[in-house]
Amino acid sequence: MSTPSLLILPGDGIGPEVMTEVRKVIDWFGAKRDLAFDVSEDLVGGAAYDKHGVPLHDDTMARAQEVDAVLLGAVGGPKYDELDFSVKPERGLLRLRKEMDLFANLRPAQCFDALADFSSLKKDVVAGLDIMIVRELTSGVYFGEPRGIFEEGNERVGINTQRYTESEIERAARAAFELAMRRNKKVCSMEKANVMESGILWREVATRVGKDYPEVELSHMYADNGAMQLVRAPKQFDVILTDNLFGDILSDCAAMLTGSLGMLPSASLGAPMANGRPKALYEPVHGSAPDIAGQGKANPIACILSFAMALRYSFDQGDEATRLENAIEAVLASGARTADLMGPEGGTPLSTAEMGDKVIEA
Ligand code: ATP
Ligand code: MG
Repeated sequence: MSTPSLLILPGDGIGPEVMTEVRKVIDWFGAKRDLAFDVSEDLVGGAAYDKHGVPLHDDTMARAQEVDAVLLGAVGGPKYDELDFSVKPERGLLRLRKEMDLFANLRPAQCFDALADFSSLKKDVVAGLDIMIVRELTSGVYFGEPRGIFEEGNERVGINTQRYTESEIERAARAAFELAMRRNKKVCSMEKANVMESGILWREVATRVGKDYPEVELSHMYADNGAMQLVRAPKQFDVILTDNLFGDILSDCAAMLTGSLGMLPSASLGAPMANGRPKALYEPVHGSAPDIAGQGKANPIACILSFAMALRYSFDQGDEATRLENAIEAVLASGARTADLMGPEGGTPLSTAEMGDKVIEA
């Protein structure tokens, strides 16, 4: 088997800072676990704009299409706020998602025991929580036509269209069921079939795809009830399948069950490549955090956990992913904290590099 390839795009703000820690982790796997990667690094976002005048160079895009996985830090920052929309840093990320056709966005919400006190909810509601939201990422109301602000009589009307084809629903559903097979064999599909046509179709297609996975228990829930259940009793879920808009809201909601933005990884997956693995981009959920950029304060764990997802979903190294996650669990259990993980009572926080070193030690 050839050496698995990884394209690293640190990006802007705290992106490069947290990525430095991930590089340490990658090097560790090469040295200690005989797991070498063919790593290349390139620019994205504002960093790419500064050098090339575009937020993603064509050569970088081409490389992203070739590699087994892309790992991205974060893009954007106040320096680029005044730029024309077409060259804004975020467009670099959107181009990657679009051209790689990454239709399934995986956002785990996992509560490390050591941080259960940190959740917005009571400890017993979240301790041991481990759920995965699969959000359809390339269609729905964010893209449907017609859209725009139009004149209607003597006032204006803003229009967006929720639109889903069967095949768009089917491929997202399949991603959710495949994932469920590797987890606890439970999928809850969320839509609003009571008021939306797309919801009726969504439920029908999810049910049909589910027939191919007889071992997986499928349930359906209206998305508003889903939001309520997520904060009432989140541990009832394993994999949640939902559309682009509901997924945006539900995954942010689930994120706050776990504590800090600095802890949350994500994966965006597309169609299988020739080697059978899906096209994939991994990134922390957080943004470029301009308020703390350049100060060595950022928590690198979200980005390190994103690499753990890459190990599991792109490189077939589930055991090594678990090894890495266990190391993070142990570090947190030992009381190590970056500033974002500390309550008002304070203490001395670890720097980004110190947290990275602790993970390597563990
Ligand atoms: P974007 O538009 O890029 O999503 P945002 O303003 O929504 O940006 P972030 O850039 O993620 O969100 O920052 C939100 C807040 O969370 C900021 O106060 C930031 O400092 C904090 N934050 C985000 N990521 C981290 C991290 N890895 N470690 C510590 N604090 C973080
Ligand atoms: Mg944001």
